[in-house]
Amino acid sequence: MNFAQKNLTSLLRRMSLDAVLFWSLENIRYLCGFSGSDGALIYADEERIFLSDSRYEEQARDEVRGAVFRKYKKKIEGIARGLRSLRVRRLGFEASALSWESYQRLKERLPRVNLVPLAGQITDLRARKEPEEVEKIRRAIGIASESFRDTLPRLKPGVREKTVGDFLEFRMKRRGGESSSFPTIVASGARAALPHGKASAKGIEKKEMVVIDFGARHEGYHSDETQTVVLGKPESRQKKIYDLVRKAQERAIRAVRPGESVRRIDNAAREIIARAGYGKFFGHGTGHGIGLAVHEAPTISPRGSGVVKEGMVFSIEPGIYLPGWGGVRLEDLILVTARGCEVLTYLSKELKDNII
Ligand code: ZN
Ligand code: ZN
Repeated sequence: MNFAQKNLTSLLRRMSLDAVLFWSLENIRYLCGFSGSDGALIYADEERIFLSDSRYEEQARDEVRGAVFRKYKKKIEGIARGLRSLRVRRLGFEASALSWESYQRLKERLPRVNLVPLAGQITDLRARKEPEEVEKIRRAIGIASESFRDTLPRLKPGVREKTVGDFLEFRMKRRGGESSSFPTIVASGARAALPHGKASAKGIEKKEMVVIDFGARHEGYHSDETQTVVLGKPESRQKKIYDLVRKAQERAIRAVRPGESVRRIDNAAREIIARAGYGKFFGHGTGHGIGLAVHEAPTISPRGSGVVKEGMVFSIEPGIYLPGWGGVRLEDLILVTARGCEVLTYLSKELKDNII
């Protein structure tokens, strides 16, 4: 039994549920292997039913493991039939994935079934990774990081951000990635103050810092990494901000060990930046879990809760963003090990190695 099956068995008992209805594609893929883009999974302790329509029949028969496949013409009716066949009376469902409309229709079809919304109880489901999952993430990192190296010679004064981003995404596909994890961020000069500055038509200029946030997808699993590079010899302010972010990132990485709270890990980075007087220029959380989704549990932020556990994979990505000037973000992915953590991403985050 893997982490997820154990968690689900105890969740079903704890909440006296007969089954859980999975609606999100990531959880469906995680629990039964189906990688298509429509379907639902009824997960009971003894039986699992995966449902989809005729477009996915062959794919489902090919991919689905540990669940029987049933075809529907209309999704809600198919699900209702499946639930009746299992005599489900109390059904948990993914509150964040099922739309209000689908919920209402399900309720109409199944007036006697008690529908129980699950939120916090299942957000951690995929947080601890199995070794095979870590391997897929490592492979995604390899594809993305080598593609980043392929792209570096193209980073020259005058080249547009978008040209850099497009080339990086092209290389990731060439190296076997299914796609990029998200639209690549290439934010140069003052635009680097935008934490999510999608690559634009702006030309990159000499002496500018450029924040490049990129990732590749491999067998459904994502990577996510950020390098900040400087075109030419860094000015003292660039060096100062970069070193500060680097120090914050190192502190947070050093704080990671099983049992440590997500808030303390976040604070390890935040404290360094705040003490130097830049606290209000670090507006986002320090990190997020990653796997079948780019953002998943755990949330490493001042608003996060709980502790980290062995097998979790998440980012450590502090940043400082100064409006009108620019910014620096450094992002690595780490795996929580028995005693601490392993940094999975391997591109150097030292400033001297990121001068072009
Ligand atoms: Zn990122
Ligand atoms: Zn990230």
